Amino acid sequence: MKRPMLEIAGLFKAFGENAILNGINLKVPTGELVFVIGPSGSGKSTMLRCCNRLEEPTSGAILIEGTDICGLGVDINAMRRKVGMVFQSFNLYPHLNVRSNVSLALRKVLKLPRAEADERSMAALDLVGLAQRADFFPSQISGGQQQRVAIARALALEPKVMLFDEPTSALDPELVGSVLAVMRDLKASGMTMLVVSHEMGFAREAADRVIFMDGGVIVEEGAPEAVFGAPKHERTQAFLSRVR
Ligand code: ADP
Ligand code: MG
Repeated sequence: MKRPMLEIAGLFKAFGENAILNGINLKVPTGELVFVIGPSGSGKSTMLRCCNRLEEPTSGAILIEGTDICGLGVDINAMRRKVGMVFQSFNLYPHLNVRSNVSLALRKVLKLPRAEADERSMAALDLVGLAQRADFFPSQISGGQQQRVAIARALALEPKVMLFDEPTSALDPELVGSVLAVMRDLKASGMTMLVVSHEMGFAREAADRVIFMDGGVIVEEGAPEAVFGAPKHERTQAFLSRVR
């Protein structure tokens, strides 16, 4: 196997006395999409949040292209830019238009001049099919479009890896498809992705691998057809029978 773009090695995370992640090991090769399922509270979000240091691991390593982003002397901001994250709630600034929502980090974090930041923002908005909505405010576009702006905002920083934490869970059903379509395009463009979602249809079609988490460990992993079609572990079977 080629060197993974993202590697989670021996990841443990506790909040006080509560052990939430109990030894996660996962390698995501460049351009692969790993789809994460598991019951509520199994540690999926915590795992993703450790991958861009929104949470500090208790122990273990997160490597991007072989560099431990938790290592001493690592520039947190530089490493964090390599890992884009999209949440269930899009958290756009209501008082900024779509273009400014995307360009804000480019100007404040990357210190790009306004013209260059705007240009890069428009390119990112084009990728998610929203260049024509650049002058709209978040309240003037649909939830699906808002989530695509949030994706553009992450992409504008040119990350190496994109993490998605239930990106369509807050959307009305008819708006889910447009967000999944953007994610499909992103995968086709070669992006490395870790996706927590309940959209099993999307997983079957776009995921290279599915992992099932429970109790802070990876219980089972395999190709989508294998995990969904013939889950080996009892806990995976029980979970899948509950969600469909
Ligand atoms: P999932 O995304 O699979 O539903 P989470 O990673 O959100 O699971 O949460 C796993 C467990 O960790 C839950 O029991 C949750 O209450 C706990 N947890 C998450 N974040 C914190 C925190 N900041 N402080 C304390 N407990 C937390
Ligand atoms: Mg979660």
